[in-house]
Amino acid sequence: MICVPITARRTEAVIHEMSLAVKHADIIELRLDFISEMHEARTCMERALKCRTKSIIVTNRPIREGGNFSGSEQDRIKLLQEAIDLGADYVDVEHDSIKHISRQDSTKIIVSYHNFKDTPRNINKIYDEICQCKPDIVKIVTYAHDITDNIRIFKLLQTAPLPTISFCMGDCGHISRILTRKFGGFLTFASLDKGKESAPGQLTVNDLVNTYHFKKINKETSVYGIVGNPVSHSMSPAIHNCSFLEKGLNSVYVPMKVLDIVSFVREFRKINIQGLSITIPHKETIVPLLDDIDTTARKIGAINTVVNQNGIFKGFNTDCVAAVQGLENGMNNNEISSHTVAIIGAGGAARAIAFGLKDKGCDITIYNRNVEHAIKLSHEIGCKYKRLEEICQVDTDILINCTPIGMFPEVEVSPVPKEALRKGMVVFDSIYNPIKTRLLLDAEASGCHTVNGLTMFINQAAEQFRLWTGINPSVELMRKAALEKLSVE
Ligand code: NAP
Repeated sequence: MICVPITARRTEAVIHEMSLAVKHADIIELRLDFISEMHEARTCMERALKCRTKSIIVTNRPIREGGNFSGSEQDRIKLLQEAIDLGADYVDVEHDSIKHISRQDSTKIIVSYHNFKDTPRNINKIYDEICQCKPDIVKIVTYAHDITDNIRIFKLLQTAPLPTISFCMGDCGHISRILTRKFGGFLTFASLDKGKESAPGQLTVNDLVNTYHFKKINKETSVYGIVGNPVSHSMSPAIHNCSFLEKGLNSVYVPMKVLDIVSFVREFRKINIQGLSITIPHKETIVPLLDDIDTTARKIGAINTVVNQNGIFKGFNTDCVAAVQGLENGMNNNEISSHTVAIIGAGGAARAIAFGLKDKGCDITIYNRNVEHAIKLSHEIGCKYKRLEEICQVDTDILINCTPIGMFPEVEVSPVPKEALRKGMVVFDSIYNPIKTRLLLDAEASGCHTVNGLTMFINQAAEQFRLWTGINPSVELMRKAALEKLSVE
């Protein structure tokens, strides 16, 4: 179930927000601690309970448990008791306050524990202590400093004897708010809108329903995700989740902010994760942690895709084929062999593209800021290199930017002076935000053919989807989802 907390401060606003929340919410949480006056909180609670069309949880969280109620403990408990006397569907009572509450059959009691510092190792002991209070529902919410903290919560949910609400707060806990349903969690919380969150890391209800299709998640749902740091602005969840839905697959794709790739791979094998996209900074460091590596990916030395083949984690690189396909589509004659290519950059993207184009028989020159990196890559590829400053005199059929120069928000800069671009050249920018970079705008104005980074991005995602599922996704649907995501950023 989805619970939307109402964090408005006045009765009228609370009633209005409740009327909006019921669209997606199964339960509404009335946060009395967001209302500063005691009498206003009481009036609000009476009205909200009277006009409710969905079940209500009444919560009056004290500051010590991460809430806002600053009055006396006696007044705080008094409001909770009144909620029970008024027949609220659920009342959330902190584990250390339960002894002050008299119960009634009409109200279910959620006994809660919040930890804003970490996810304690002795979480099962805390669970057992809460069970001693005879709750109808147990609620344990902790803070994740590392993505592996979520695994402790998933295990707790899988073995919980009572209905249990449990997830981790914070960026690293994001996935537990989505996957809690897979592991048997009673409900998850989602904010009505951005800025109306009641706790750190809460997704909006719109995202939860429309991007992650939360209501379709169940025990059998296969889990996929993007591993990197940062990942919060990634377009991949939007494009893969809509493709899973379109193909009728019971799968969900989540953003995974990973700091330590070693512990991540070790712990996430335990939840039988089915596939991963890998992004900066883990594309190379994950290689030795996998069981098998595809031949092309091994040659490149970097992977962007992991497929779980019956417990064997195999790495692939779909950036390489995606870039070559994008270029071939962008060239009128679909033929890129034997052309001269200037690649700007010597990082992961440059590496994947250079290997792909070398295989096609292109004559490649690497231009890079750090010349040592250019030398190293050019030796591995078997191609030429130059200093980045020499790009002013570039004479090439195809020019490819594999640096972040020109990426949002620095959209007015370009790695190549406009004068160096000449008619008929093919100019490919791997950046996809913005879709038309300064480099591509200059290239268009100079009569060049242009290829944008979104084409490569969609191609690499489509290839990942094929590797994971054996099914061809709709590239048009993926493009539409990516464009929608880019337009709201
Ligand atoms: P990376 O491994 O970190 O490499 C970055 C490269 O850019 C390095 O060669 C670095 O040069 C150079 N660079 C960074 N800042 C620079 C600056 N201010 N001036 C000059 N050179 C600079 O990153 P990556 O994974 O290759 O990604 C590079 C770009 O490709 C990014 O914009 C990314 O968005 C894009 N990309 C797109 C796709 C797609 O699907 N469209 C996929 C992957 C990557 P030094 O060696 O001197 O540090």
